[in-house]
Amino acid sequence: MTRDPRHDILFEPVRIGPVVAHNRFIQVAHCNGMGHAMPEAHAAMREVKAEGGWAVITTEECEIHPSGDVTPYVEARLWDDRDIPALAMMCDRVHAHGALAAVELTHNGPTSSNLYSREVAIAPSHQALKYGHPHQARAMTKHDIREYRRWHREAAQRAVRAGFDIVYVYAAHDLSLAMHFLQRRRNQRTDEYGGSLENRARILRELLEETREAVGGSCAVALRFAVEEMLGDEGVTVTEAREVVHMLAELPDLWDVNVAAWHNDSVPSRFAREGAQEPFIHWVKQCTTKPVVGVGRFTSPDTMADQVRRGVLDMIGAARPSIADPFLPRKIEEGRADDIRECIGCNICVSGDLTSTPIRCTQNPSMGEEWRKGWHPERIAARRSDARILVVGAGPAGLEAARALGARGYEVHLSETSRELGGRVLSEARLPGLAEWMRVRDWRVTQLAKLATVTVYRESPVTAAEALELGAAHVVVATGSSWRRDGVGRSNAFPIAGFDGPNVFTPDDVMAGHVLRGRVVVFDDDGFYLGSVLAELLVRQGCDVHLVTPGETIAEWSRHTLDYPHIQRRMHEIGVTQHTGQNAALFRAGQLTLRHVWSRVATVLACDAIVTVTSRVPNDALARELEGRREEWHSAGVRTVTCIGDALAPGLIAHAVYAGHRFAQEFDAGPAGDVAFKRFFPMPQIQ
Ligand code: ADP
Ligand code: SF4
Repeated sequence: MTRDPRHDILFEPVRIGPVVAHNRFIQVAHCNGMGHAMPEAHAAMREVKAEGGWAVITTEECEIHPSGDVTPYVEARLWDDRDIPALAMMCDRVHAHGALAAVELTHNGPTSSNLYSREVAIAPSHQALKYGHPHQARAMTKHDIREYRRWHREAAQRAVRAGFDIVYVYAAHDLSLAMHFLQRRRNQRTDEYGGSLENRARILRELLEETREAVGGSCAVALRFAVEEMLGDEGVTVTEAREVVHMLAELPDLWDVNVAAWHNDSVPSRFAREGAQEPFIHWVKQCTTKPVVGVGRFTSPDTMADQVRRGVLDMIGAARPSIADPFLPRKIEEGRADDIRECIGCNICVSGDLTSTPIRCTQNPSMGEEWRKGWHPERIAARRSDARILVVGAGPAGLEAARALGARGYEVHLSETSRELGGRVLSEARLPGLAEWMRVRDWRVTQLAKLATVTVYRESPVTAAEALELGAAHVVVATGSSWRRDGVGRSNAFPIAGFDGPNVFTPDDVMAGHVLRGRVVVFDDDGFYLGSVLAELLVRQGCDVHLVTPGETIAEWSRHTLDYPHIQRRMHEIGVTQHTGQNAALFRAGQLTLRHVWSRVATVLACDAIVTVTSRVPNDALARELEGRREEWHSAGVRTVTCIGDALAPGLIAHAVYAGHRFAQEFDAGPAGDVAFKRFFPMPQIQ
């Protein structure tokens, strides 16, 4: 295939100080929950992206000193020379594919925890730690500032020894001292590091100058800089940021600009569209001759080329799009943009970092498994037999199983009850703000159409008798799940009295188009996105919506995906009344009795209808019936029946995709043992 000439501009080399990026694609820094704890896994994940065509591959935040320890989050580390080999491994792997390696040095000051190091945290002025740990950061003395600069210089020198080509100074996300000095709310100093903007930017200037000196002539110095915090006068504003860019214009070799804090930068697709940062950063290029990179969850090559052509950006920065498709640049380069596995903006990848576990991605099930399972986003082992496989159900689990098995060369029959493929994605993507989630379905359906090995049967519900008749040796049951009506879930082991009566609805009812009226209670014991999404839908339909949850707050798990602040803001904007720490006890005659989870005090809320977002039951009748007819398998030629995805245990779309992929990867592979992945065991070092 030939590349669209409009995209040629994306493949021009870009000089970044003394080094040259072979195209305009930068994988900007992103956390991954592996970092210093799993260096092999980390290096393998970065390597795949270099192979996929990203010209620059950046680490996550890289701590420079134990007083800036961000435990429990697992990031990169260059505390001393013993941290060099792990990052040298990443550099070697990245260089093997002709890409440049970059490291984002940081000291997180009052946004550290020091839970592991037990050092006293430091900050421009005395202040509480940002993340709620019950101790404070102390104001830095002049000596501390000199030490901080020394740690940064020495970390930069270590970075060069590890093999990095670009060393970042980090002043973004409200996560690094260099930014904390800029913020008036964090910096109340009265010496030459506080007060005027010039004084508050002094440390940033010093870090840039000293990093350049430390790295010598062969390594570039980049600055990651947040131009807006969305906090009004309490935060960095574009007005101040513009002055800073003017002051430091030619000091870095690369300006990497974004907005802060992290939840405003990596906004879920529910709350921001592709390219949403342009209004904040478009002016930076006019203030400097140095190349400028920015982010915007870019997946469309037309949008990317347009940004470059219009002089908004010189380089296309991406974290999430590079996670969803590590081969995005190569696909555009080869004229295969239709094959891009587009990020859906669900931020499940972020939850890896925020739960300190290896990164996972809804669209790309190989993410985080490159080393420990040897999975690759573009390659999969060829089939080992002539086995014929029947996959029942074309939700994310069935679609991914059929796609990956078909890519291996197996003959696959995919049967789906509905006319449209996609399962739960079809209904959820029609809810307010979730349209991009359809990409989970669309990418897989596009790929299936290219596979001669897979035959898709729509409007073809499969019964146990038919599954046995069809003569496929292996049956994969991916028949999904259904929301419960009875209120059983995390907080209620038994049905809630009255939930078996009229005016109680499930999310499936609402998603199927059942329109509710009047005052509606969304009883959310699930605690993630769906409760608030349904609340939004019901408000649009004209209901007076009350969101009731036994949780301490609404949508608790969305703190792991950066949705939380946006959900809160949205619920306030649209007038949804929140009742937190409240369990549902009884629904009778339009009266819902709530019981406070700690005090047990009961209150009554009048309502016309209830939507129960509690838990789901697997639709596993087919799997159970086939299991019950095991004695018929032999004569029918059936050898295995495997239940996967929501039909086995309801979870996220990411879990279903992973389950489908895992089935395909492990099919015919023999037993994996009790621990189905490689682990990293650090060896004691000579101190
Ligand atoms: P998952 O998330 O595990 O992929 P979904 O609920 O998204 O589950 O998708 C399950 C799909 O299975 C739905 O599209 C549903 O129509 C389909 N399905 C359920 N039972 C059958 C069946 N007996 N035969 C064919 N398709 C089925
Ligand atoms: Fe995109 Fe979701 Fe994958 Fe993150 S997890 S890269 S947001 S598809």
